Amino acid sequence: MFIRSCDYDYPAHSKPEIALVGRSNAGKSSFLNSLSGRKVARVSKVPGKTTLLNFFDLKDYILVDMPGYGYAKRSFTEIKKWKNMVENYFQDRSQLKLMLLIMDVRRDLTDDENMLIKLAEAKEIPIYIVLNKIDKFKDAKKKINTIKNASGIDDVFLCSSKTKEGIVELKVRLARLETR
Ligand code: GDP
Repeated sequence: MFIRSCDYDYPAHSKPEIALVGRSNAGKSSFLNSLSGRKVARVSKVPGKTTLLNFFDLKDYILVDMPGYGYAKRSFTEIKKWKNMVENYFQDRSQLKLMLLIMDVRRDLTDDENMLIKLAEAKEIPIYIVLNKIDKFKDAKKKINTIKNASGIDDVFLCSSKTKEGIVELKVRLARLETR
């Protein structure tokens, strides 16, 4: 399942890659576990654990878990390092087919999400926004339109990594990626 984690030395394979990005605590690790159907990622209680890219083989594609962002205690140097890592990956990786942006459904887009969206758009990489934790939010369906309007992205999905609502639909869409 787990291939390897690395800095700028990416693994060789012939599958499409999906970049998984998200603010710390949005539920990125939990989402990854739900998607794979088994526990592959540590669900962190202490923010800031993941600082490298992690490549996970999910059969139809490789999911590239990018380090989370938005930690309160990050230094300027750490933020710059994160940005360089993300920018380099988007720049270098020809098999990158999709960016999957995980958000807590209760939050709105910030400069960080907008930066990631711009990065993917500049490389013409399609974007899915996944609004997670819908089990904690009554107006999730309305929020789809808010996020669509704010981001200009049509592919906005709802899910709960806790109750697994919406996970199967996403799994199907992601497995079909190559034939879209
Ligand atoms: P990450 O920092 O983005 O990787 O977030 P984690 O996966 O570590 O999740 C952060 C916290 O949110 C943990 O306490 C999770 O149990 C919780 N969490 C993640 N997804 C959901 C969800 O869909 N619903 C609820 N209620 N809690 C969630």
